[in-house]
Amino acid sequence: MLLHHCTWQEVESYLADRTAVIMPIGSTEQHGPNGLIGTDAITAEHIAHAVGDRTGALVAPTISVGMAQHHMAFTGSMTVRPSTLILIIREYVESLSRHGFDRFYFINGHGGNVTTVNAAFQEIYAAASLAGGDAKSVTCLLRNWYMAPGVDALSKELYGNKEGSHATPSEVAVTQYLFPDTIKQVPDFGPPSNSGPGFADAADYRQRFPDGRIQSWPQLATPDAGKRIFEAAVDGLVDDFKTFEK
Ligand SMILES: [Zn+2]
Repeated sequence: MLLHHCTWQEVESYLADRTAVIMPIGSTEQHGPNGLIGTDAITAEHIAHAVGDRTGALVAPTISVGMAQHHMAFTGSMTVRPSTLILIIREYVESLSRHGFDRFYFINGHGGNVTTVNAAFQEIYAAASLAGGDAKSVTCLLRNWYMAPGVDALSKELYGNKEGSHATPSEVAVTQYLFPDTIKQVPDFGPPSNSGPGFADAADYRQRFPDGRIQSWPQLATPDAGKRIFEAAVDGLVDDFKTFEK
């Protein structure tokens, strides 16, 4: 059930017996030569919607632009500052907690968000604590879909060390499964840059990894693999969400 497809009365009746909500969060940033700029937002959103369908849980609107400043040397990438993202997360959570939600299950599609999302959780707890309330009156949990039980093993089985760490064949495959009309026909772009890990800033990132991917072979992505990865992520997160909601 999607929050933005409900009436306020439907949300009120949901809250009569459940107080957990799923919060998709992604990013809008370059994903190499054949990956969609929206990859991290699209994957998090659709996996979250499927987890919501399977559990009957309410799903909030996706936070689609994340902390992606290191991608800004590539055209079309968008970012918000860590401090902005902290406020967005905090105000999404506080809006919903005002109505009675108290368990927030974030499904994330972007590694670059992790530090900031965890800082946002601490800001939320600190605000409650400093106001003299119970710091745990609200509980937030972050899960990266690509690390869900079953997903990591499947990615390794499908792609081994060609999975890489950015613009991975797994995440590109999931978007190909969800949106086959967007599959890009691009000439073979060969192996990834052999630059070592680490970069100083956005310009240095582009210089080291000129086509945007990091150690990945996203040309190996297929919609069929994407379906398997998507289903593994949903299966893993459904069980985890049920434990969280108890
Ligand atoms: Zn990504």
